[in-house]
Amino acid sequence: MFKLETIISLAKRRGFVFQSSEIYGGLNGCWDYGPLGVELLQNIKNAWWREMTFRDNIEGVDAAILMHPRTWDASGHTSQFSDPMIDNKTSKARHRADNLIEDFIDKMKKKKKNDIAEKIEVELEAAREPADFYNIIVNNQIPDPVSGTTDWTEVRNFNLMFKTFIGPIEDSSSAVYLRPETAQGIFVNFKNVMETGRQKVPFGIAQIGKAFRNEINTKNFLFRTREFEQMEMQYFIKPGSEQDWFEYWKEQRWNWYLSLGMKAEKMRWKVHNKLAHYANYAVDIEFEFPFGFGEIEGIHSRTDFDLKAHQEFSGKKLEYVDTVNGERFVPYVIETSGGVSRSLMAFLCNAYDEETVSDENGKSETRVVMRFSPKLAPIKVAVFPLVNKDGMPEKAQEIYQDLSKSFKSQYDTSGAVGRRYRRQDEIGTPFCVTIDGETLENGTVTIRERDSMEQIRISADKIKQYLFEKI
Ligand code: ATP
Repeated sequence: MFKLETIISLAKRRGFVFQSSEIYGGLNGCWDYGPLGVELLQNIKNAWWREMTFRDNIEGVDAAILMHPRTWDASGHTSQFSDPMIDNKTSKARHRADNLIEDFIDKMKKKKKNDIAEKIEVELEAAREPADFYNIIVNNQIPDPVSGTTDWTEVRNFNLMFKTFIGPIEDSSSAVYLRPETAQGIFVNFKNVMETGRQKVPFGIAQIGKAFRNEINTKNFLFRTREFEQMEMQYFIKPGSEQDWFEYWKEQRWNWYLSLGMKAEKMRWKVHNKLAHYANYAVDIEFEFPFGFGEIEGIHSRTDFDLKAHQEFSGKKLEYVDTVNGERFVPYVIETSGGVSRSLMAFLCNAYDEETVSDENGKSETRVVMRFSPKLAPIKVAVFPLVNKDGMPEKAQEIYQDLSKSFKSQYDTSGAVGRRYRRQDEIGTPFCVTIDGETLENGTVTIRERDSMEQIRISADKIKQYLFEKI
């Protein structure tokens, strides 16, 4: 297993991800996507959008990030969207109490102290209130990873929503929040979408958009950030059918990751025993990052919690009426809630590979290759003239310009062809087209495939068709 630093360094070096406001020293928990990063991000979002909304009964929305503040009272975020926070008095380091305990459990497991780890795991499972987390930390003498001391403050709950003010006056009546999840933008539009889309239960609403959480600790690169993007779908169903639909969406979502090249052995299910206030079944799809397994998507059965709450808080009926038998009910909801940026990081880790190959002189060298699914690869094809003379650049430009109309392409003339291949391997470009002397004679080019490194010769006018088939 390679290190997370290897991915971070490649991401920066090749223009996938930069620190936010880097020239000012960066802003904690925020990241910027560079030229290749936006392509990858866009490809993930497009793949999700196609997968979810290219169905008769799933519609899309794009709700505003700022929502009526009552939304968050109804959803429970104002009172419950908080994490337990603890400070170490010696180092002044601030931790999320549950994460501090989890890290300690992992440490115990690594030291083969499984009985201690298991005991604390049981305690953590049962913890609800700040005092529960505090007792676990103090009773088990969990030390601060920074100072090594057990000199702790009390545990307090910290609300993760970012607050701001709408209009010129900063008082409590103008307070609004940056949405901490996209889901509520879907619930408040349930009726609008159902009516305008003439949808009947079961049907779904999908949304991709930014969400903001003032996380206590941000760590592990894109895994836990303060600004991130989510891709969420709420599927409205008849009460009583939730178990079947839950199973259906679990399978759909698992297979989506596989269809984009995610390795099955790097994924696993996590079943939640401790459920959020709104859920009656919940599982996560986890991916094995260099620092261990972590959630990339949650599939939750949310009952009628959200619609009922919005009905109560808004005074507007959010019912479904079955036109055939006149039955009225507030639909139940199965939610699929994935992180775009977190899955981008998973796709980066999943794609990274190093192998020893021999260069054109037979000398062995290390090849870094991002084995992205061609569907996700930021650049689909690179075009190289073998040498910068004899009419090759002109011909290569002609081919490149034509391919650029259909695929995100790159043109590269610098250095030996072997070096140019390596540069493309490192960003995961699945195909490279080389124009050489033979191209000028008989109109054929070589296409080299990234993973096998095999080269075939085909007629230049067949390149597009070949790429469409492969991508
Ligand atoms: P965690 O327990 O890790 O804080 P969560 O269970 O609160 O996450 P959800 O509210 O279910 O997460 O969010 C759905 C998805 O949104 C997650 O699976 C993840 O991909 C993404 N996500 C949530 N919080 C963050 C974050 N701070 N940074 C990046 N992605 C996030």
